[in-house]
Amino acid sequence: MNHDIDIKKTRINCFRQSKVPGEFMLQMRVPGAVIDAKYLKVVMEIAEKWGNGTFHLGTRQTLNAPGIKYENIPAVNAYIKDYIHDVDQEMCGCDMEADETGYPTIGARNVMACIGNSHCIKGNCNSTELARKIEKLVFPSHYHIKVAVAGCPNDCVKANFNDFGIMGIYKMDYNYDRCIGCGACVDACEHHATGVLSLNKDNKVDKDTCCCVGCAECVLACPTSAWTRNPKKLYRVTLGGRTGKQNPRAGKLFLNWVTEDVLLGMFANWQKFSAWALDYKPEYLHGGHLIDRAGYKTFVKHIFEGVEFNPEAKMADDIYWAENEQRANIHVMPLSKHKTAGPQE
Ligand code: SF4
Ligand code: SF4
Ligand code: SF4
Repeated sequence: MNHDIDIKKTRINCFRQSKVPGEFMLQMRVPGAVIDAKYLKVVMEIAEKWGNGTFHLGTRQTLNAPGIKYENIPAVNAYIKDYIHDVDQEMCGCDMEADETGYPTIGARNVMACIGNSHCIKGNCNSTELARKIEKLVFPSHYHIKVAVAGCPNDCVKANFNDFGIMGIYKMDYNYDRCIGCGACVDACEHHATGVLSLNKDNKVDKDTCCCVGCAECVLACPTSAWTRNPKKLYRVTLGGRTGKQNPRAGKLFLNWVTEDVLLGMFANWQKFSAWALDYKPEYLHGGHLIDRAGYKTFVKHIFEGVEFNPEAKMADDIYWAENEQRANIHVMPLSKHKTAGPQE
């Protein structure tokens, strides 16, 4: 069957073109990566009725149904109306009205999350809930952005390879009198974290606060609750991570010890910043490239407009990414094959 296919429209509706002519794969958003199990029936129905009978767990935690024929896209769009309503409109509070025309945009990618503290004993935050709050601020919007939330600096969700990688952290309180000097926290920090604790001559704990990542391994290890999480929920954020062929790179530490209010204020400015960085033209560019285009300092000025920082918050003065590290093959090429840098004798 010949098709006059409107690829742009199908893409906006979150259908990805297949290598099989005339076929597409639907990508259903799951912000925060948790939804009621009943929605698996929705995926099953799509896969069996219009797709090729399989579904794919998307690398950005979407539920994907491949093998959908182009002529069936309108029927699938009508069928997912309730799913979009339940998940994006009701669960995340996105400013949209789900209808029978499918997803309104692909722009901001599904906000990813690890299971966080709703399940994981290491979790410092409810990453699913935070991801849903961020979804509300960035979707629906044609502006691209990739965000992932990890419940702790272990970063199981690989937030570090997103434009914005968020990790739940705490500052820890130490109760001198409760400490019996057993050294369990020192071992835990040494083995699982950054090794910033040591026992002093009084058999109490000293801490190099500079390098503490706020993971709470010390709290989990302490038998007397001498270490406890300070009640103020905080986050660290890496910036500018990405995959891709041209210049993949890990994110760099951008914010540390910031509150949720700072994070949400920042994301609330994302659309305005993107419009400005694109000269208010409908050009499509990945979010990370917008930050590159603006330059770090200008990006910071725009993204924190009207945002008030909490007293303990820290932000990078500047960030330098190693753009060409992978393309230059520097880690796989034998040293003898590298051109010698600098003046030759
Ligand atoms: S990142 Fe932390 S909270 Fe999330 S799953 Fe991994 S260990 Fe658990
Ligand atoms: S919170 Fe800090 S001190 Fe405690 S284990 Fe983690 S890095 Fe070490
Ligand atoms: S684990 Fe608790 S009791 Fe043991 S040395 Fe550390 S703070 Fe003190």
